[in-house]
Amino acid sequence: MTDSIHISLEDLTLYAMQALSSAERVPIRLHLAECEICRAELAAVSGDLALMAMSAEQHALPEGARDRFLTRIGAAATPANKIVEIDAYPAGPKPQTRRVQSWIPWTAAAALLVIAAGLGSLLYRTRLDLQHETALTSAQTDESRRAREVLEVLTSRDAQRVVLTAGTPHPVPTARAIYLASRGALVLQANNLAPIEAGKTYELWIIPANGSAPIPAGLFRPDAAGSASVVMPQIPVGVQAKAFGVTIENAAGSSAPTLPIVLVGAVPSAGE
Ligand SMILES: [Zn+2]
Repeated sequence: MTDSIHISLEDLTLYAMQALSSAERVPIRLHLAECEICRAELAAVSGDLALMAMSAEQHALPEGARDRFLTRIGAAATPANKIVEIDAYPAGPKPQTRRVQSWIPWTAAAALLVIAAGLGSLLYRTRLDLQHETALTSAQTDESRRAREVLEVLTSRDAQRVVLTAGTPHPVPTARAIYLASRGALVLQANNLAPIEAGKTYELWIIPANGSAPIPAGLFRPDAAGSASVVMPQIPVGVQAKAFGVTIENAAGSSAPTLPIVLVGAVPSAGE
């Protein structure tokens, strides 16, 4: 910018980079408050600085941004040692002529990052620079693309779904008893039973609700897969069961359970 009633590009750039003293910043801030032209120019300079800061971190520099920035710097630096002339400057002594501060290399990524962080309020107070918007849009596009990819994987019919758990050497033994007390009818289906040594057997017990002694309800041995069943053992009719239990007994079976109970299940109360 060559019009002396406005802030030079050089000063705007130094201002954006926070490279001016507080005394130098005051008149510029006053002018910016009044002058839309200079605010727009500051936004452009700030936008380019921000883009370069971002490009130093991870983004590809938008086409032309670097050239524009360097061009601005070159144009501004030509009339070196120029006095800041500001129409809104308060009456009184003219600002001191000051030397152009040594230029901070634009490649100083760390400094630019600091600058970019400080530009937020300036950018919001002025019209957003088109290139800055482009950079924002690019970042948002990257995020939405990634989100879309995740969603596609999660919802794909072709995706294989595998549950991973801590390794368990033996699957958990389970058994399901189906009991009809009024008929004295009982069926038990057991799975994943541990193998049982020769001369031993599993024995099923009905544990009566009235507190009387457990009633033996059948012997069984698991097959190679750990499965076994007890179907309609000889048991009394009409015994209300509180629970069912399984113990390991000698092969001939027992009239009373030998602890420990290796499997147990309570009969659900009415209403459960
Ligand atoms: Zn101006």
